[in-house]
Amino acid sequence: MANAVQAIRGMNDILPAETPRWQFVEQAFRELMAGYGYRQIRLPLVEKTELFKRSIGEVTDIVEKEMYTFEDRNGDSLSLRPEGTAGCVRAAIQNSLLNQGAQKLWYAGPMFRHERPQKGRYRQFYQLGVEVFGLSGPDIDAELIVLTARLWQRLGLAQDVHLEINTLGTSESRRAYRAVLVEYFNAHLDQLDEDSRRRLHSNPLRILDSKNPEMQALIEAAPRLQDHLDDESNAHFARVRELLEAVGIPYRVNPRLVRGLDYYAKTVFEWVTDKLGAQGTVCAGGRFDGLVEQLGGKPTPAMGFALGMERLVALLDERPFDETPYCPHAYLLLAGEQAETAGLQLAEQLRDTLPALRLQVHCGGGSIKSQMKKADRSGAAYALILGDQELTEQRVTVKDLRGDRPQQQVAQNELAGFLAREFTLAQD
Ligand code: ATP
Ligand code: MG
Repeated sequence: MANAVQAIRGMNDILPAETPRWQFVEQAFRELMAGYGYRQIRLPLVEKTELFKRSIGEVTDIVEKEMYTFEDRNGDSLSLRPEGTAGCVRAAIQNSLLNQGAQKLWYAGPMFRHERPQKGRYRQFYQLGVEVFGLSGPDIDAELIVLTARLWQRLGLAQDVHLEINTLGTSESRRAYRAVLVEYFNAHLDQLDEDSRRRLHSNPLRILDSKNPEMQALIEAAPRLQDHLDDESNAHFARVRELLEAVGIPYRVNPRLVRGLDYYAKTVFEWVTDKLGAQGTVCAGGRFDGLVEQLGGKPTPAMGFALGMERLVALLDERPFDETPYCPHAYLLLAGEQAETAGLQLAEQLRDTLPALRLQVHCGGGSIKSQMKKADRSGAAYALILGDQELTEQRVTVKDLRGDRPQQQVAQNELAGFLAREFTLAQD
């Protein structure tokens, strides 16, 4: 055999055994979005490199070392999207969505970052995200947090995650704080690692985000943004907290939460779990009021978040998961050529009458014994057997694969009614 080609490291196949959990998350998210009045936007996976440089910022991990950048055949520099916000803002500006009132949007799909692959960190990973444009008040900040809390509840993960919030202030107050911070770190240059020294003048707030254990004491003692906030930011943040309290969502204010990207201001938040080791942030977001203007649109307040599908699915892996809705209701066994013809007809009639029926028809022949093994492996609740005897008598043998109910004979013209009752399916 020839050598088989391997996938790229950090770019995973998501196999059929795993996809039910993925579908469960995606469907819950889709329903949640509909329930809150958010509309889907679908965006390209590839954008001009310039878009990410201008939005995420030149001095960020993503732009400095994580982007998949390549030259198009005409010489343009393009990049696989490392995140969804930049493309969403670009699309909103380009398609004049921002002139059409407030926009509540969601997206789903793969993102690409050339990081060191490890548990919970991949080079192609999937995000579900939300971006809201045109709303400046704390009410929308609270809504985004509240709806993510409801998602955890629906996924059965509410006990596994906790909420951390912070405010980064307006860009003016951040500018003032930045100067204080640069002064502080300058006075302790000898204690800064190489990354931090580089960031000192380009993006000093990111130093606070450093995971280097040797710098933690220095970071702990640094001046706090909280002491340099303007009144507007303080009032905005106080109201967000009040709204969260009003609906009973517990949170922790984490003054060290600054988020990796340049464009955030005011409210930022993360949902964190301690069940996944170092890669514990499952959802992260914040307000980015300056970004639309920075990318050439009219000044527009904005707020959004993204959640990492792999990390959520990993959390689901830790808990019992009911696969039943992802398995066939019934598996149809067919003995011989005549049964194959009649079985195909019967199956199509059942599908006409019961559009929601999940019916797997056995293909490929073989003994009833071997077909029964496959029926069992499919996870179906019932095996429907169509052999010579059943053909002659216009019935099927129904075998309960999961319980211990005795085998039954059901007339073919009553089978739809039987299945509809068993699985509470609507009949067309
Ligand atoms: P981290 O601190 O974990 O590197 P980040 O700040 O780079 O996260 P964001 O850009 O805010 O992450 O992305 C939002 C979410 O997407 C993260 O909270 C995480 O769940 C997920 N995520 C980010 N990068 C990866 C990755 N390389 N592999 C898998 N999931 C990821
Ligand atoms: Mg990262």
